[in-house]
Amino acid sequence: MTDAYLMPDKRLHAVQDRIAQAASAAGRKPSDVHLLAVSKTFDADAVRRLAACGQRAFGENYLQEALAKQTQLIDLPLLWHFIGPIQSNKTRPIAENFSWVHSVDRLKIAERLSAQRPADLPPLQVCIELNVSGEASKGGVDLADLPALADAVAALPRLQLRGLMAIPAPVSDGAEQRAAFRQVREAFEGLKARGHVLDTLSMGMSSDLEAAILEGATIVRVGTALFGERNTTHA
Ligand SMILES: *Cc1c(COP(=O)(O)O)cnc(C)c1O
Repeated sequence: MTDAYLMPDKRLHAVQDRIAQAASAAGRKPSDVHLLAVSKTFDADAVRRLAACGQRAFGENYLQEALAKQTQLIDLPLLWHFIGPIQSNKTRPIAENFSWVHSVDRLKIAERLSAQRPADLPPLQVCIELNVSGEASKGGVDLADLPALADAVAALPRLQLRGLMAIPAPVSDGAEQRAAFRQVREAFEGLKARGHVLDTLSMGMSSDLEAAILEGATIVRVGTALFGERNTTHA
């Protein structure tokens, strides 16, 4: 039995405290930073325990795993965010079963998500994933290609472009962490200067959320600090 099983409320409050402290250090309101609980590799019961403590937004990376959990948790009013790599043959279930997608990094995927978003649902809320130098994942659009992609995504009828997401390579030095997040914020400001109306910077995880909040994160995506270590090979 893990700590996560015993005390999801303590873990949640500890993460909320970290967010609040970083926000006040940045001169920001804690309520301007939203917590996305990344539940990949953890089962529906773990999500249910955290939901019982008041957490509503959950992030998933693997489609089949996410759909199975959604089915088991259909009785709860949860908001699901897709944050993993997207294969073009998987866009339909993503468009049908998630409120947000953080990992849009090419136009073909965005076009399919828009075309496949059911008419009876609100527009899919999306972030474009930016490849910052030394990014931990292979995904993300290069900075040079970002403006054109953002213009095209913003024009799609069933998507609402909300901002940027990034996964910088893990480093322990706080100044280095901030430098990577600052690149993302500057790209975000650049898009706003181009006329895009954006409000979301999805950046910061368990080990670097403070640096991300100091650089303007509005969504931090936290897994380990809420659920414990993932003992798995695929994440
Ligand atoms: C796994 C994952 C997270 C959470 O990482 P932790 O270090 O466990 O907090 C956040 N974002 C993405 C895209 C992930 O894949």
